Amino acid sequence: MITTEASVQSRHGAPDVARPLDQWRECPDCGLLSTLPEMRPGLVAECPRCGKTLWRMRRAPFSFPIACGLSGLLFYTYALVAPFLEISAYGRFQLARLETGPHELTLHGYTLLGFLVLAVTAIFPGIKLGIMLLTLFGLETRTVPSRLMIALFRWYARITPWSMIDVYLLGFLVAYTRLAAIATVHLDTSLYALVGLMIAMAAADGAMDTEAVWRALERAKVHTDERYHQHHPEVPWPEDAPIANMSTEGVIGCHTCHLVNRAVDGDLCRRCHTRLHARKGNSVSRTWALSLSAVALYVPANIYPVMQITQLTKTTNYTIFGGIQELMAYGLWPLAALVFLASITIPLAKLFTLGYLLVQTQRNSPTHLNGRTRAFRVIDFIGRWSMIDIFMISILVALVRFGQFANINPYSGAPCFAAVVILTMFSVITFDSRLMWDAPRRAAPAAPAPERGAPLSQSSKGVPA
Ligand SMILES: [Zn+2]
Ligand SMILES: [Zn+2]
Repeated sequence: MITTEASVQSRHGAPDVARPLDQWRECPDCGLLSTLPEMRPGLVAECPRCGKTLWRMRRAPFSFPIACGLSGLLFYTYALVAPFLEISAYGRFQLARLETGPHELTLHGYTLLGFLVLAVTAIFPGIKLGIMLLTLFGLETRTVPSRLMIALFRWYARITPWSMIDVYLLGFLVAYTRLAAIATVHLDTSLYALVGLMIAMAAADGAMDTEAVWRALERAKVHTDERYHQHHPEVPWPEDAPIANMSTEGVIGCHTCHLVNRAVDGDLCRRCHTRLHARKGNSVSRTWALSLSAVALYVPANIYPVMQITQLTKTTNYTIFGGIQELMAYGLWPLAALVFLASITIPLAKLFTLGYLLVQTQRNSPTHLNGRTRAFRVIDFIGRWSMIDIFMISILVALVRFGQFANINPYSGAPCFAAVVILTMFSVITFDSRLMWDAPRRAAPAAPAPERGAPLSQSSKGVPA
């Protein structure tokens, strides 16, 4: 990594504690307080302790994501109304839209599962697109009230992992190979819209500079407040938090917009109005509760069949592992390996890793902190890909309805498996990885504190993107 001139200056420059609070960052992964280097487009600020990206400054923070978001919106609207797959067999014909699978699951009595599939494939992607476009357009045109934009944009990062068009398309791929074995399959136009939507959303995510958006939102709010006070001089101007700060005591990094606030637990962030907490509340016990529930459900999810295929007089029940064996029997090894990875390996790896992280945190272990933080990032990233099998089932159930000739029905293992995926995703959300870095200090309180309470001498590293 080449260190740029800008970051060299900031690392050896004036004492960092004298710099304004909005130049500070609390690393969301390790909790280290540092100051940002002098940023410029194309530069990435990284945490000096764990390497977490703190700010990737983009050259076009608004125009390119707006372009991606608009094309995504066109694809999304089309994908909502048009079918993406049609099959014909036994002289009959079926087609599937995004909502067909969830509707069929509901008809079979799996209402929650149906709603889950509908939410992550149709509702959340739409909400995410809406939040992005409304905020960015609002900032460009100054037509949307700043407080509304702030209230909405708070949800952007939270909703992102639950928008699963990319995972759905992999589930579609597995469903397609299975359908091809029993019927004539035609890809429909909406499938290309879904692929377009996936690409547009990935490009928008990659180009989105959330820090630039938050800074613009803050400026817009100040502008609105100034106008309000011009018209209502009788209302006292709210006292601002002091900007220059000389110590790291009593500061909390906002977990939504990442602004460092001079605050105590329970105060509101002065930029995004999220309630501030130095650490996530009851993180360890809540993560244990969610992970152990997932372990308990992992057993029925693998023992009970997830679907039932009836062809003429023959009825076969498929567990998750049985489905993988069937793919292998067809000779579809890469697909079998993919489903094995997503449905068996990833949930197990997540549960074992979470258990290990929790035990090490409770033991106040000082070892392998960087490795544990990296493991946590990996399970955070891969968790949602386990939904492949659930999406495959929802597509098969939607299409294979040929009366007495062939039918595919969901079975009780499916909601159990979906619950395992959702519970492990929530347990990653509730786990606060900063506790791992706090733990060695808790165990040895006499040791010099490396971050909170110590003079702030570290500056984030800036590296070219
Ligand atoms: Zn860090
Ligand atoms: Zn905030």
